[in-house]
Amino acid sequence: MSDTLFIGGAWQSAASGAEFETLDPATGRPHASVSDAKAADADAAVRAARTAFDSPEWAGLTPARRARILWRIGDLIDEHAEELAALETRDQGQPLGISAAISVAGAAEHFRHYAGWVTKIYGETAPLSFPGVLQYSKREPVGVCALITPWNFPLMIASWKIAPALACGNTVIVKPAEQTPMTTVRLVELCRAAGIPAGVVNLLTGGPEAGRALVEHPGVDKVSFTGSTETGRAIVRASAGNLKRVSLELGGKAPSIVLPDADLDAAVAGCLQGALLNSGQVCAAYTRFLVHRSLADAFAERCAKAVAGMRIGAGSAPGTELGPLVTAEHRDHVDALVRSGTAEGAQLLAGGAPVEGMPGFFYQPTVFAGARDDMRIAREEIFGPVLTVLAYDDEEEAVTRANDTEYGLAAAVWTRDVAAAHRVAGAVRAGTVFINMPNPLDASAPWGGFKASGWGREMGSGAIDLYTEVKSVWTSLT
Ligand code: NAD
Repeated sequence: MSDTLFIGGAWQSAASGAEFETLDPATGRPHASVSDAKAADADAAVRAARTAFDSPEWAGLTPARRARILWRIGDLIDEHAEELAALETRDQGQPLGISAAISVAGAAEHFRHYAGWVTKIYGETAPLSFPGVLQYSKREPVGVCALITPWNFPLMIASWKIAPALACGNTVIVKPAEQTPMTTVRLVELCRAAGIPAGVVNLLTGGPEAGRALVEHPGVDKVSFTGSTETGRAIVRASAGNLKRVSLELGGKAPSIVLPDADLDAAVAGCLQGALLNSGQVCAAYTRFLVHRSLADAFAERCAKAVAGMRIGAGSAPGTELGPLVTAEHRDHVDALVRSGTAEGAQLLAGGAPVEGMPGFFYQPTVFAGARDDMRIAREEIFGPVLTVLAYDDEEEAVTRANDTEYGLAAAVWTRDVAAAHRVAGAVRAGTVFINMPNPLDASAPWGGFKASGWGREMGSGAIDLYTEVKSVWTSLT
């Protein structure tokens, strides 16, 4: 396969003819070849999306009809669930159970959730203080949207952007991460099969160059980006030309605060789940464990014991609990941070190195105890299977230290005390706080970050705000 650009309803190769290979992280070997889009392809995709935005085939569709198409995409995802899950595992590395239960099922749910919204995007009337004037507001699509996604949950993140963008009547150009394009290619095929008109959903497989070309393009009205904070900053700068609407879901360094009265068994189990899903390649992964000093040693030891027994293997192998990291570069990034932890004096209780003797990009689940807040492992996003335990003495100190980060995506608190749980949830500066549980997502709950973790909220009604402009209409009744 290499004609993986979808522009104006036609599959095609890059205008330059460039291609690249995508690897299976479990073997390190290429498994598919895809087109490498450049600026000329981005320009063609933006033109196609603009033409479709103004076309009667899309702009003229009734909301009811649009809703049916979105619902149909959800059904088609379900009908191809096994194939999609296998493809996600092959391209991204995640265990098949995660591909099936989270990536594929989550993708279908996002389409159905926003299928429901299409016929419920209401306007308002305002009680103006001008006599004889009627005012109403309505929500209109923003226009041509560039949707740029990362490599950790490619299918689900593409879906959580495409579904609300289409629900609101926009047209889109999707640019998946160069490491993991395959399920997005398949998703775009399913969108077309469900009856999305030509030019409404366009696809550019390619690297940062294609992303930059979209972000700088004057014909793009909105950028929705999920990825690293560094790239998010570059996108804000590059989108200034025509003052594009920009929403950003960026990095995180989620604190998980274990209060002294917590159920330790439940906290250890939930924290491990929250830290190690998809080998820790999760923006909301729990990575900084602020554990009350009375429990810190026991917590760290139990975590170390549990990770030492985890089954590491290819995502496609039955029983695998921990799959590979996405690329060799990323494994080396994780390893460099782990080495910095040891060098800076943290105590390594488990793991600490790539897995020897296996092909692919496997890394041992790693637990550090006795860490300090100024260490790189406590400050930088690792995006790997690394847990760092930090001891604290009182609740106020725990919250202050939890908030001492540029990030603010997610946080967790573990306690049996309802008042303490909500006190801490209120004091932590993060977009989502989980109480006594790991860190799932749901299409109906707002998702996004405080501080350098991003701008805006996806999912639920938040995404309707992101993909619409509000128009206020005034009428003289005299
Ligand atoms: P990345 O920023 O390197 O790349 C993300 C996407 O941006 C890719 O498609 C890439 O090709 C593109 N890109 C790179 N440079 C660009 C530029 N200058 N202009 C436009 N596009 C550009 O991120 P990644 O390494 O793929 O993903 C990991 C990061 O994503 C982590 O920091 C993680 O926390 C974050 N993430 C956040 C969320 C969230 O919901 N907040 C979810 C998943 C991942």
